[in-house]
Amino acid sequence: MTLADPSTRTSAPVALVDVVKRFPGLTALDGVSLELAPGEFVALLGPSGCGKTTALRVLAGLESADDGHILIDERDVVDVPTNKRDIGMVFQSYSLFPHLTVAENVEFGLRMRGMPTVDRRQRAADMLDMVGLDHHATRFAHQLSGGQQQRVALARALVTQPRVLLLDEPLSALDAKVRVGLRDEIRRIQTELGITTLFVTHDQEEALAVADRVAVMRSGRIEQIGTPEELYSRPISDFVADFVGLSNRMPAEVVGGVAVIEGQQVPLIDADAAPGSVHALVRPEDIVFASEADAHSRPAVVVTTSFLGSLRRTRVRFTDGVEVTLQHEVSHAPGPGETVRVRLTGRPVAVSRV
Ligand code: ATP
Repeated sequence: MTLADPSTRTSAPVALVDVVKRFPGLTALDGVSLELAPGEFVALLGPSGCGKTTALRVLAGLESADDGHILIDERDVVDVPTNKRDIGMVFQSYSLFPHLTVAENVEFGLRMRGMPTVDRRQRAADMLDMVGLDHHATRFAHQLSGGQQQRVALARALVTQPRVLLLDEPLSALDAKVRVGLRDEIRRIQTELGITTLFVTHDQEEALAVADRVAVMRSGRIEQIGTPEELYSRPISDFVADFVGLSNRMPAEVVGGVAVIEGQQVPLIDADAAPGSVHALVRPEDIVFASEADAHSRPAVVVTTSFLGSLRRTRVRFTDGVEVTLQHEVSHAPGPGETVRVRLTGRPVAVSRV
């Protein structure tokens, strides 16, 4: 029986139900409800100060809720202390004990539980193997890179086989390349163990890349929750659209159930949007270069263009002064000042009131 054997653990459903948390003069959580299915990986995404960490801390029992319920495996744990909630946590800052070796850090939780030395050494070794650090077992924290320290923190959080894993911006102190590697590694291990996971981040790319579902938070509330594809293609608001990726904001008119943008009729994501002046939120990949023969194309002047490796982003200005960014393949490289013709692909757009 190994740690990775899913039969040794059961995944727990987790739910926050109408959770309210107030600090003096401020409501940090204003009725947050969120359900995680057993084994699901949910990212809590939002700008600084929107309440992500507070939600995680309330779930962990590090803060008390003023109202609402917190269910782990269908049991209300509001009155259960942190160490009895069966939760593993990894924080943004490296939190290893500096005077303990890597192996001793990982073993720590098992030692606290009184597990015999031989057993806990074996468990810690298995866990270090899983995070790819078995050969660093005798090192101390100051002899490890930031990414390695977070791997140890992950091993330490998982060694007690918790039923829920909480990750509070565990990658934000790492440089970009290490961050992407470790992000994929966390997802691999989480999938392998099938552990229900809530991952707090303010980085939309990170959230969309790893999570089964993403909950976008704003001012103490969850604005939208859905799969990355749902959020990206059907954002319910301007805020979500902005937050989950680059978006052009183009003046438009809603008329007869469609949006008219730069003279082109485009379907609406929300078919019931009220008629009138709006801003249409148009993704850079939904604007393309077109030929003069294309009746929908409009002339525009290239403002800037940047090479991004596998793609190119070009900003153009229409004759009415509206500027938009296109994302396109690198082989086409119009220069600044050049007149081009562009059109919308016609994929449905979200709109917001002006
Ligand atoms: P960040 O991405 O910057 O960490 P966040 O979304 O995690 O932000 P929280 O840390 O949950 O935000 O904070 C939500 C709000 O609650 C903020 O306005 C914050 O200043 C406030 N807050 C958090 N903890 C406390 C506390 N212990 N006492 C008073 N106010 C607090």
